[in-house]
Amino acid sequence: MSRLTFSESVELLKSGDLPLLGKLAGDMTERIHPGNVRTYNVERNINYTNICISGCRFCAFHRSENDADAYVIDEQTLLDKIEETVQLGGRQILLQGGLHPSLPFSWYENLLRTVKRHYPDVNIHGFSPTEIVYFSDRFGMSERDILLRLRDAGLGSIPGGGAEILVDRVRHIVSPKKATADRWLNVCRLWFQFGGRGSATMMLGHLETLEERVEHLQRIRDVQDEVLTDFQNGTAATAGFTAFIPWTFQPGNTQLADITKTGSWEYLQFLAVSRLFLDNVTTIQSSWVTQGLTIGTLGLSFGANDLGSIMIEENVVAAAGTVFRSTEKAFCESIRSAGYEPQRRRTGN
Ligand code: SF4
Repeated sequence: MSRLTFSESVELLKSGDLPLLGKLAGDMTERIHPGNVRTYNVERNINYTNICISGCRFCAFHRSENDADAYVIDEQTLLDKIEETVQLGGRQILLQGGLHPSLPFSWYENLLRTVKRHYPDVNIHGFSPTEIVYFSDRFGMSERDILLRLRDAGLGSIPGGGAEILVDRVRHIVSPKKATADRWLNVCRLWFQFGGRGSATMMLGHLETLEERVEHLQRIRDVQDEVLTDFQNGTAATAGFTAFIPWTFQPGNTQLADITKTGSWEYLQFLAVSRLFLDNVTTIQSSWVTQGLTIGTLGLSFGANDLGSIMIEENVVAAAGTVFRSTEKAFCESIRSAGYEPQRRRTGN
């Protein structure tokens, strides 16, 4: 079967033919993941600080150091959150934070070491490529050295946060202080060379065009092609992105609050095109956190094979006024109601 091209993908997005897209993407999911098992995870999103110098226009979460509700997590709070996660059966934390202006690098290393000392079996899925680039610039170390030091301190896998749209025209408008698309992708390349696991995300539905959505997919597919070739040649230690997770921009309380929220139809269309285009990424995850559990589960029939994680805690999307909560029981029931067998996935994506 030939690969979906850039222009075919744009045409499919313009077509609006959701049933056709669902059929095509569903068939492809079935080829990649035969059988009726669909996966999910139990984890907690811990944001170690909300203090951030970036001021992204789409973000309702960040604060400046002088704001009354600004915080940097303390050790006991961190450990309490992890303990609660473990008690609920979670074995992974998603550890991300704002781009803090003054914490030393040792603070981040200590954070990881503290978690691993108390919870050696908990995977730390932490520090997005955006944070890695920021650390590199702020601490005058190469991205390679930052990654290696964080890995030595206990970092297990990296989340694909801060990707937004991997097109610099858009990035310059919505998040001008953040890593360029090239630097974001290069952190992933480096990490995969060292044998790390990581995912890629995309925030759609703000100032990007349909073509730019597909350009984002193209850039992920191109890097994945490179990494897979390196993997086969023995020069990369892992097979690249484990998952792709598109989610929709939540405009509440942001500088872009007048943008209309992307609806479920458009979201499912894009999810299906993502599955069809990213033929080299094994897992496509649906975003129940922004779409709700019903649409998130429906995504399993539109190209997704994973429902994401039960978020014991989530702050970033919630700051924009979108709050969906669920339990493992509700997750499993929802997956079964769609005709699939729920199964917890391994950690690291
Ligand atoms: S999205 Fe992240 S980097 Fe941007 S302002 Fe919010 S916390 Fe900072």
